[in-house]
Amino acid sequence: MKVLKFGGTSVGSVENMANVKQIINNGEKKIVVLSAMSGTTNSLVDIANNIKTSHLENALKIINTLQEKYAVVIDALLQNESLNSATKNYIFERFNFLRSSVDKTFSQLFENEILAQGELMSTFMFNAYLEAQGISSVLLPALDFMRIDENKEPAFEYITQHIDKVLNEAGEADIYITQGFICLDNNGKVSNLQRGGSDYTATIIGAAIKAEEVQIWTDIDGMHNNDPRFVEGTKPISDLSFDEAAELAYFGAKILHPQTVLPVRADGIPVRLKNTMDPDAKGTSITSSSFETGIKAIAAKDKITAIKIKSGRMLQAHGFLKKVFEIFETYETSIDMITTSEVAVSLTIDDARNLDKIVSELEEFASIEIDQNQSIICLVGHSIVNHEGTHKLFQILKDVKIRMISYGGSSNNISLLVDTENKITTLQKLNAYLFELATA
Ligand code: ASP
Repeated sequence: MKVLKFGGTSVGSVENMANVKQIINNGEKKIVVLSAMSGTTNSLVDIANNIKTSHLENALKIINTLQEKYAVVIDALLQNESLNSATKNYIFERFNFLRSSVDKTFSQLFENEILAQGELMSTFMFNAYLEAQGISSVLLPALDFMRIDENKEPAFEYITQHIDKVLNEAGEADIYITQGFICLDNNGKVSNLQRGGSDYTATIIGAAIKAEEVQIWTDIDGMHNNDPRFVEGTKPISDLSFDEAAELAYFGAKILHPQTVLPVRADGIPVRLKNTMDPDAKGTSITSSSFETGIKAIAAKDKITAIKIKSGRMLQAHGFLKKVFEIFETYETSIDMITTSEVAVSLTIDDARNLDKIVSELEEFASIEIDQNQSIICLVGHSIVNHEGTHKLFQILKDVKIRMISYGGSSNNISLLVDTENKITTLQKLNAYLFELATA
């Protein structure tokens, strides 16, 4: 069985839902994972924030506007009267729930329940649409099998057991529809897999049922070799290894949730990135057998903080780095890049919530310099540190100031740290140097 995930844009309009129907209606057995309609989760976040800050009128206004939007979509999607009214009943119940949460004392629990409504609504509507089109499908409630543990990691044993049960109870069908993103936490309360988490849902399910493959359908024809928002003439990459895809997703390629490939990597279940608006385009295949060498792609991650830790005591001393790392561990802050000299170490973090506390502990034995608004530019490809073409990247040194370089940490990744104001220039120049376009 295959698992196919469709993102917010794919279910964001009647026309796109018709495309999705076309893609999935091919007689093959599959699980279809859906995101919320595009924009919905952002509106739900807005609603939650307005409730949290006691702007209750604003929250109600957003809820009412969103409900009107859904009513219009349902009317365009479902001409059949009984399906139309059954769907409206369900959707309006969801909006009544949202309105009822405006009066309640705000808690994290409520926030997660508010955020869960988008996927509950999109899957219900799409399932009704398939029924209206004479296609038989079954809705599988993700909250009946998707769960995270106390470390917020997928509870695989639980998921595997429960999805089997849910599938058995659902009976025979070609198409099973389920919600991306939402899950239960270790206490059985509604939670989620973080923003963009529907991709992750798809590969978690893929791993649990040992799927033949997982397809992630979005509105772009695969992962590109550079960021199309900043660089012209980027191209889709046809093949990536799991490691390459994981690095790119973590370091800013927006098309994939960072953890997406982890669940399926061990079993080598292929992940294909496809475009709902252009289903015949090849897209990107992520497999364990992509060995073409050289730099394949560049991605950038913003909001990085660089910390330089300098101390005379580091000179020929051991145990210094241990002391440094222990402080980051105490504040559960992970380090992305690191470079050292004999008297200083520079490292980067993307979660600066505990920066003040970390710095004050470091200052007990070192002098500290902080640079904020940094971007990590990540170059990814198989065995790139040994590839003859890689030297071309160092031409970038004449164009922008590089704050750090990490080379050789893995053979698949080279990372540069630049001031975010130089990010676009860096991406464009690297594109020209490495992919030989005539735009530098
Ligand atoms: N609807 C959620 C979000 O917008 C999850 C997803 O679309 O993947 O983040």
